[in-house]
Amino acid sequence: MSCLNIRTRDPGSFARTGTLALAHGEVRTPAFVPLATKATVKGLLPGEVAALGYDMVLGNTFHLFLDPGHDLIARFGGLHAFMGWDGPIVTDSGGFQVFSMGHGTVADEVKGRAPSGPERRGKILAIEEDGVRFRSYLDGSEQWLGPERSMEIQAALGSDLALVFDECTPFNVTRDYTARSTERTHRWLRRCLDWHAAHGPPGQLVLGIVQGGVHRDLREDSAETVAGAGCDGIAIGGSLGEDKAQMHEVVGWTTTVLDRVAPEHPRHLLGIGEIDDLVRGVELGIDTFDCAMPTRLGRHGMALVPDPAGRWRVDLTQARWRESEEPLMDGCPCPACAVGLTRGYLRYLARARELTAMRLVTLHNLAFVERVMRRLREAVGEGTLAAVAAGLRAGEAP
Ligand SMILES: [Zn+2]
Repeated sequence: MSCLNIRTRDPGSFARTGTLALAHGEVRTPAFVPLATKATVKGLLPGEVAALGYDMVLGNTFHLFLDPGHDLIARFGGLHAFMGWDGPIVTDSGGFQVFSMGHGTVADEVKGRAPSGPERRGKILAIEEDGVRFRSYLDGSEQWLGPERSMEIQAALGSDLALVFDECTPFNVTRDYTARSTERTHRWLRRCLDWHAAHGPPGQLVLGIVQGGVHRDLREDSAETVAGAGCDGIAIGGSLGEDKAQMHEVVGWTTTVLDRVAPEHPRHLLGIGEIDDLVRGVELGIDTFDCAMPTRLGRHGMALVPDPAGRWRVDLTQARWRESEEPLMDGCPCPACAVGLTRGYLRYLARARELTAMRLVTLHNLAFVERVMRRLREAVGEGTLAAVAAGLRAGEAP
């Protein structure tokens, strides 16, 4: 039986609503999943994230493995107890971060990009059939991550959803490299599932990952392979192309196959979460999304607003807001907008690098994204998705 209970389907697209039943509770889908990379949604308390309407957060295997270590987190009772979040948690496998250290020169990808975080300082030493040897960005020590190791770490973290270890193939490699890499990812999928069947903690479910780059036949073959492997759900990863049109096409190829061969399986789109991508992703049948965008922008004084021409964001640090008494956004229930804090005040705080600015804009951005997802869920339920999606694309407030 699938962990996804599908409630309604949109007749005009692949979109559906439902609930994901996980060990630590339910996730209303389609849903955005905020990043809690290092066991915290940066700057926020767990209760604040839940109060915004979020059911699940995403922890990062690569970072938590290097510091403070999964053994230590297990001693604290697992990631839920460690970070004080009692709802569902999904953990990525570490594959993306490890391979980012080697593929870090990719410039023009929709998602890949050069790693902007500290991963940049790490280094891949060898990619072997068993996994990847690399140098830690923290202390230069030699480390190892492979399929079994990644599942072992995620078991110790005790997440509700674990992701299999994969190679996140970049955009700028040959078709031949992508094909061989995808085949290895499929072998790693089998090994992850075998390890989990023997040692996985009770209640933890496993998501396989579809790769295949931007090649239609490789994507379709990968979707069929992952769907047939016995995972609890399916994630879509890797390079999705050089622009949004190509990304939407690649995701569409994949979900078309999944809708045929695994219609009941939950589908997660890895690392994608700009507003227009959420709208298109829901239409393409994606159930959950994660992305650094809303929280990362929030820490840099960039606020989400219903402005498609401005990529749904406004830079509050710009001089034009210096004397602005305009609220950040009318009708937003977030703590900044609810009391009518002005753009002029937020600009001053953001430029002064005050913690309050980072917190307020992060809260606002996550409130904005959650309202977009809520609007899309309601639209699918009411049979009005086409109109609501068109409105959001045109800049209607969520
Ligand atoms: Zn707000």
